[in-house]
Amino acid sequence: MSEPLVDISHVTCGYGDTAAIRDIDLQLQAGTFTGIVGPSGSGKTTLLRAIAGRIPVAHGRISMAPGTRLSYVPQVESVDWNFPVTVGECVLMARETSRLLPWATPEEKRQVGQTLERLGLAGLQGRHIRELSGGQQQRVFLARALLRRPQLVLLDEPTSGLDVKTRHEILHLLGELHDDGLTIVLTTHDLNGMAAHLPHLVCLNVHVVAEGAPREVLTPDVLQHTYGASMDVLDHGGMPVVVDAYTGAALRSAS
Ligand code: ADP
Repeated sequence: MSEPLVDISHVTCGYGDTAAIRDIDLQLQAGTFTGIVGPSGSGKTTLLRAIAGRIPVAHGRISMAPGTRLSYVPQVESVDWNFPVTVGECVLMARETSRLLPWATPEEKRQVGQTLERLGLAGLQGRHIRELSGGQQQRVFLARALLRRPQLVLLDEPTSGLDVKTRHEILHLLGELHDDGLTIVLTTHDLNGMAAHLPHLVCLNVHVVAEGAPREVLTPDVLQHTYGASMDVLDHGGMPVVVDAYTGAALRSAS
């Protein structure tokens, strides 16, 4: 196998003296699409922030293939959407900050237009970001991330708070970007609507409990160790469907 794009070796880090993730060993190959699942507080966001270099690693090491460009997309909820800018301005703010010119070049404006069109936001360039729906806000975040032409995108809960249709749209969009060669890592709470559709999952609870294809890791045993709760996994045409243990028992006795 070739050298990984990201090599996470025995990484422990957190806040103050408290470790939020411990002894994490993960390799992310170029072109892969990975979902990180786990309960609230299990360290999903911390792991993304560590990969993005936003928090220091206390022990271990994260190395990246030379020249790798990455973009980190935080949770939509973490941002003040009342900031008075339009969609186009908001996306433009993500361009290289080392430039001296404060205004956008024609090439940059062209890139913004192209990116917004790609993400289905073409008509919204002049709209105030406050006036966007949750799905549109998520796509503006993605547009900002893609403007830097990254090889790796890290997304924190990209479908949280979205309705089913919008969630499908975002999942589909990410699938297309992955097909184009982008390496994607995202966190999600949504085991059935999101995680089960991804090629590769990492089950996290401070440590890595398991990693593999959804069918390999969405098992009652792994879920018990990840979530500390009894869950059942049903088979729906080869696709795992996670339910709580009571629902699983009721469905099994009814069939
Ligand atoms: P998740 O994304 O899985 O919900 P987080 O990575 O956000 O988990 O949090 C992991 C642990 O680190 C939690 O116990 C959380 O309370 C703690 N934590 C997260 N952010 C901070 C912070 N800025 N300062 C102190 N503790 C934090």
